[in-house]
Amino acid sequence: MTARILVVDDIPANVKLLEARLMAEYFEVLTAADGITALDICDQTPVDLILLDIMMPGIDGFEVCQRLKTNPRTAHIPVVMVTALDQPADRVRGLKVGADDFLTKPVNDLQLMTRVKSLIRFKALSDELRLRAETARNLGLEALLAPHQGQLEEPGMVLLVDSRANSQERMSRALTGIAEVTAIGDPQAALFEAADKPYELVIVSSSLDNYDPLRLCSQVRSLERTRFIPMLVVAEQGEDELVIRALELGVNDYLLRPLDPNELVARSVTQIRRKRYTDRLRASLSESVEYAVTDALTGLNNRRYLDTHLATLVERSHRRGRPLSVLITDIDHFKAFNDTHGHEGGDDVLREFARRIRGAVRGADLACRFGGEEFVVVMPDTPAEIAAHVAERLRDAVAEVPFKVSASGALVQVTTSVGIATLEKDGEGAGSLLRRADKALYQAKHEGRNRVVGQAA
Ligand code: GH3
Ligand code: MG
Ligand code: MG
Repeated sequence: MTARILVVDDIPANVKLLEARLMAEYFEVLTAADGITALDICDQTPVDLILLDIMMPGIDGFEVCQRLKTNPRTAHIPVVMVTALDQPADRVRGLKVGADDFLTKPVNDLQLMTRVKSLIRFKALSDELRLRAETARNLGLEALLAPHQGQLEEPGMVLLVDSRANSQERMSRALTGIAEVTAIGDPQAALFEAADKPYELVIVSSSLDNYDPLRLCSQVRSLERTRFIPMLVVAEQGEDELVIRALELGVNDYLLRPLDPNELVARSVTQIRRKRYTDRLRASLSESVEYAVTDALTGLNNRRYLDTHLATLVERSHRRGRPLSVLITDIDHFKAFNDTHGHEGGDDVLREFARRIRGAVRGADLACRFGGEEFVVVMPDTPAEIAAHVAERLRDAVAEVPFKVSASGALVQVTTSVGIATLEKDGEGAGSLLRRADKALYQAKHEGRNRVVGQAA
């Protein structure tokens, strides 16, 4: 994992120390001695993470963070604020300006590497998702570009696993206001609970009665339903070994007892906010993937989808020795509808046509708008005779009942021509199959339209 990290501190010795540690882990390090320089650097070069001191001459760390987080071009760069141990209130202020995480001076090595690595992993994931969503020209992108809006808009759902009642109570109290906490003592019951409700954070105490906390962490990470939930481990002083193993298992962060309530709140909010952000990105990604493969007018899959998916279906059909047929259908004299009823009227016909196609084929068949007034249906496990039957049913469903033009209420008679081809056993590819179906369609047009032609092998 390599990344470019910007260290901002007005005291040269602090900069040198962090720089040396990060370079020892093969990170690329940039440095700045004041806020303005830091902002300039971020403006000019891509930075993956910022370690930001608070007390600096000129503009302080809070101000720098705020400016970074309100600028859409830099809002996604994770910021770790380096706070003084005796200033717990700094965490709260830091969260308000959008800081992603905190380190306390003097910076402990394990903490430094944990925070840095976890944030860089997070950034790599969100960069990837953002890029893909952007490529698909997602419409909700602006909202996604500003992931950090200070405090949580609504309380997080937190599951707390701890065998000791007083510790449960102390943590629940600290989290009041930012989270709704469900506290459970029995780790197995907790696992079921985590899989059952949409928790946004699981806090695991290292002191569980007769149960290895690491086992619970690994179970949460491996269950399908829980594997994306962030986890926070609360350990005792001196349990470094356990913490390191927990982090290796995919635990996101840790806290040491005695607990600082501010720190518990800050770390919990960070994890919950991050989860909400990646959830949004994931959802928008699947939405934009959906957009990219769907034809907007008819809701059928588009040609792009057909191109990738048909190849897969053809390959599978060869491998299994199963038949596969395709039909191409093209509306007859479609141009005339546009000429008579306007483009809108033509669109009405296309929508209704798509609806009738859907009604004429099975769920397992793939119906696509190939372009204009041409549609393709791929029928897996379907030999030529059955395909001919389906095509005839489709032709009939179109010709039988007139189409309605919504603006004028006019009823129009629509017919369609259909060409069919069935996959050859000799390893024929998708392109050749479609070409044969297209030839059959051409023949159907040529022979007078409103008919089905099957292309012989
Ligand atoms: P044929 O029977 O030989 O198929 O004749 P045709 O008129 O259907 O074929 P042609 O390819 O000449 O014309 C197709 C027309 O479809 C031309 C184009 O303007 C129209 N068209 C393509 N896409 C759309 C669309 O999304 N909406 C509308 N309303 N019309 C479209
Ligand atoms: Mg046509
Ligand atoms: Mg055409």
